Amino acid sequence: MAKSIPYARQNVTEGDIAAVVEVLNSDYLTQGPVVDQFENQVSLAIGAKYAIAVSSATAGLHLACLALGLDKGDYLWTSPITFVASANCGVYCGASVDFVDVDSKTLNICPKALGQKLKKAARDHTLPSVLVVVHMAGQSPDMQRIRALGEKYNFKIIEDASHAMGGYHCGSKVGICEYSDVAVFSFHPVKIVTAGEGGVITTNQSDICDRLKRLRSHGIERSDFVYHKVDNGAWYYEQLELGYNYRLSDIHAALGLSQLKRLKEIVLRRNAIRKIYDKLLANMPLATPVVDKKNDSSCHLYIIQLADENKRKAVFEYLRSNGILVNVHYIPVHLQPFYKARGFVNGDFPVAENYYKRAITLPLYPELTDEECIFIAEHLKKSLKI
Ligand SMILES: *Cc1c(COP(=O)(O)O)cnc(C)c1O
Repeated sequence: MAKSIPYARQNVTEGDIAAVVEVLNSDYLTQGPVVDQFENQVSLAIGAKYAIAVSSATAGLHLACLALGLDKGDYLWTSPITFVASANCGVYCGASVDFVDVDSKTLNICPKALGQKLKKAARDHTLPSVLVVVHMAGQSPDMQRIRALGEKYNFKIIEDASHAMGGYHCGSKVGICEYSDVAVFSFHPVKIVTAGEGGVITTNQSDICDRLKRLRSHGIERSDFVYHKVDNGAWYYEQLELGYNYRLSDIHAALGLSQLKRLKEIVLRRNAIRKIYDKLLANMPLATPVVDKKNDSSCHLYIIQLADENKRKAVFEYLRSNGILVNVHYIPVHLQPFYKARGFVNGDFPVAENYYKRAITLPLYPELTDEECIFIAEHLKKSLKI
């Protein structure tokens, strides 16, 4: 097999390309009518009242924190097993970031660990004002239990659903915000559907939606008469607060909109690949992903955990040298130099750290063939014997 197999790859059709070309021939390139259509379709596909398109999930997480009032001196908590962006959004707002250890099977925030940490924080007056929960690898954490804790301890909930578009939790679509304030999705090319770059925030709260729309475009409002009841003329706008340019372009939205039509199909194929791997790897000295009964995962990542952590590097290198471009998700965020410089040390979150030493992400994307899965499993088996 001469061609290497990436761990993830976008699925772009002729139809997707035609949709982008159509925008290039139109009057709008930046945020325009296609962004509106994209937002409408996301809100229909997800079932939340509002969808706000932004330039990336990272931008979406930042704006979500701002719209929920996160400020200097506040605390934001998240999972240590995630991409750094889930934590960085807190730092952007001047908040202190802390982490909650994960469940060893689902790799999501452990509700029990969260409950214990909150009890202690209540005594120390360090309760978080925002919790970012991550839907790791495409499956949801226990949102009801987390919401109940949110009500008891009075914190807002952002779902980092970057992995989880098309997933379900307790029969409801991820992003419907039944147990959260907002949910954020990513359209980066490795994610479930792509816009090249891009993100979307979903919410059911109209005031949050308005604030997010203003913040993504410099803090500017054009509908001045809403505020001052005077008609200043069509050129008039007002900057009401400090915002950003976090807009999505119509070029990106066209790709996202076209891809969104295949969401179901893509998630089905991802789940089919998961089942193929589950069978092929059943008797190897490793743990395959566990999907909780309450969840239908979008299967963003297929992560194995080796029984013997000392083999991880050799297995990883063997697979890579055979053209199987495995990856590792994630280096615990608290062990990044940036966060270590803020006081975190090895041993702070033992479940996350133990998981990290054993983890390898196998290739998983819609166009991966059954034969390639077999090829990968055979090489994995060989590598475990080295
Ligand atoms: C990819 C990812 C992000 C960032 O997404 P971008 O759209 O690239 O900004 C944030 N959180 C998680 C969990 C991710 O996987």
